[in-house]
Amino acid sequence: MEFHVITLFPEMLSALDAGLIGRAQKRGVITVRAHNLRDHGLGNYRQVDDAPYGGGSGMVMRPEPLATAMDEVMARHPGLLRILMTPQGELLDQPLARELGGHQPGLLLVAGRYEGFDERVRSMVDREISIGDYVLSGGELAAMVVIEAVARLVPGVLGNPESLAEESFGTGGVLEYPQYTRPEEFRGMRVPEVLLGGDHAKIRAWREIEARRRTERRRPGLIRSRGKPAT
Ligand code: SAM
Repeated sequence: MEFHVITLFPEMLSALDAGLIGRAQKRGVITVRAHNLRDHGLGNYRQVDDAPYGGGSGMVMRPEPLATAMDEVMARHPGLLRILMTPQGELLDQPLARELGGHQPGLLLVAGRYEGFDERVRSMVDREISIGDYVLSGGELAAMVVIEAVARLVPGVLGNPESLAEESFGTGGVLEYPQYTRPEEFRGMRVPEVLLGGDHAKIRAWREIEARRRTERRRPGLIRSRGKPAT
């Protein structure tokens, strides 16, 4: 799957060269490409922004550099889903990440800066996505969050795809159960006996109950109507 990002700060995307996503890139399972918006800037100063009509603070991103940058990427990589990163977009969650992961050949994410985009840019994209109800100073981190969330769902990126079903927001739609590793006792806190016993049916039942209990306490809204309360 391909991920393309139009940005004024392409160097920021190098954060994705590390860890799981970096390894997936090296293995060729996914590709991540940053495209410098400045290359499409206007005039000698490669201008990409201007003062807002009607007055007001800050600068607004002009539509022409974004249009030519997007046209160029789309001409070279046809079929990408064009996504505007904006706090005004639909909120990213796991179902949306799954949906985006099904889009072939991939995504073109447009990262804003300044006070955001000229309104006419919205007509040039397929979707608008926000990563949360807060305002960042730029869309690069937001685009990287989308790439992280979507890429790990791409077959072949995770070593053990079963972990996707069990982790938070997986097939059950609840938070993940508590996890423990060695040592058996740490600062007076012991690993629950059931996990040490090797009875897989009992471990599965314990994990199901704990996952549900934890979700009811922390995120009750996630419990699906078909679910039963923890006992
Ligand atoms: N003035 C804009 C508003 O009130 O909606 C905010 C502009 S913000 C300072 C600059 C850029 O950061 C946005 O164009 C967008 O690309 C990105 N951005 C900021 N917060 C975001 C969020 N929660 N989700 C996605 N992108 C965000």
